[in-house]
Amino acid sequence: MNIIVITGPPYSGKGTQCAFLKETFNLTHVSTGDRIRLEKENKTEVGKLMSEYADRGELVPDEVMKRLFGNIMDENAGKAGILLDGYPRTSPQVDTLLAFAAERNAPVTHVLNIEVPKDELLKRAKTRAATSDREDDKKPELHLKRIDVFEESIKPAIAYMKTKMEVFDINGLGKIEDITALISEHLADLKA
Ligand code: ADP
Repeated sequence: MNIIVITGPPYSGKGTQCAFLKETFNLTHVSTGDRIRLEKENKTEVGKLMSEYADRGELVPDEVMKRLFGNIMDENAGKAGILLDGYPRTSPQVDTLLAFAAERNAPVTHVLNIEVPKDELLKRAKTRAATSDREDDKKPELHLKRIDVFEESIKPAIAYMKTKMEVFDINGLGKIEDITALISEHLADLKA
């Protein structure tokens, strides 16, 4: 199983891009955020715990995420490749990802980092709030908080990933299809 990591701030368009890329490259889209919301809907013990953090716009603790990520790896073991959206979000999660990848013969073949400036993120957050059912989308005070979590935790994790592997930075401003085309060019070797 190949792992393609897609990272970037909240509201940067990761989910939108994943929807296109999974079709083109025959990949399975795995969003940790979606997984957490599913566990909450299913009223599992761990779902309740995780959504308490997520609904406040905070990160779920690394140890809890490690268990979820282990399950994700097991469930997708037979797949050709996964688009991993939302993990890693901290530097310890980068280490967990690399350890699991090595143990399970599941190489991280590409890391895509979508970059969008803060003022544009806030604009997109407002648009999303109008239509979303997500607790963390509906509350305007959480938009800034989630962007701050990005600055404090996710951004350093991306910098740390850059010391470990190649990270492809993508300008996330512009037309959705132009961004998809740019990413697709970078992933072209997956099709070979
Ligand atoms: P978005 O796509 O809007 O950036 P997600 O749907 O990926 O957000 O994630 C929603 C929430 O789920 C996060 O704010 C966080 O609370 C939790 N979450 C998801 N992935 C992780 C992770 N790797 N580590 C910690 N918390 C996470």
